[in-house]
Amino acid sequence: MAALLWPSLGALLGLVAGSFLATLVIRWPEGKPLSGRSRCDSCGAAVGWADLVPLLGWLALKGRCRACGAAIDARHPLFELTAAAIGLLAMLAVPGPQGLWGALLGWTLLALLALDLAHYWLPDRLTLPLLALGLAGGPGLLTDRLLGAAIGGGGLLLLALLYRWLRGREGLGLGDVKLMAALGAWLSPAYLGPLLLAASVAGLAFAALSRWRGAGEEGAPIRVPFGACLALAGFPMWLIANAAGGV
Ligand SMILES: [Zn+2]
Repeated sequence: MAALLWPSLGALLGLVAGSFLATLVIRWPEGKPLSGRSRCDSCGAAVGWADLVPLLGWLALKGRCRACGAAIDARHPLFELTAAAIGLLAMLAVPGPQGLWGALLGWTLLALLALDLAHYWLPDRLTLPLLALGLAGGPGLLTDRLLGAAIGGGGLLLLALLYRWLRGREGLGLGDVKLMAALGAWLSPAYLGPLLLAASVAGLAFAALSRWRGAGEEGAPIRVPFGACLALAGFPMWLIANAAGGV
């Protein structure tokens, strides 16, 4: 019974977190306020309290606004489901408060993944708190977390400078560097190599997919959202590190 308690709590908290994250990812790039009543993205009608229940509200409305009938942005249920899965997996890997800490990492990475994929944007207001959280309460010793942040951030900064020198254009941004530093604090230095490898494979897959869909045909370079690749690889890496008996 107790074994099911933490994972269920993780999934429930994930539904609530996902509901907030969807609003954040939809409204923030448009400069709309994040606080206040939830409103229909189309007509602006306030959403009733019963319809606000994550996932169930969307199912009850069959994905349409009660006032205007417009389709509700599919990102709402998608984020709620994904964040619930993150909460569940984090609590299965590490039942207890430390698992919740890992879920917090996963939820923040989900927002960064979506923002970088759609807008090539890794806001400091997400990456820097993530770095601070990792340094303050990440696993292992503080010296390991500091070392991880320094190696991760410093290493990627070197790669970014090297790329600019070789290719004469920007390949990696400072947002990528800050995210890598944050992940270095959350994972021990030993996991930074595999993380970079997994993110690079994701980046190559993204580039291949873009080319297949016709991008870069006029000789313009394909821009890979590397931060999104890091964010995608980061949470599974945290799961592997913790399932392997702690970092
Ligand atoms: Zn509406």
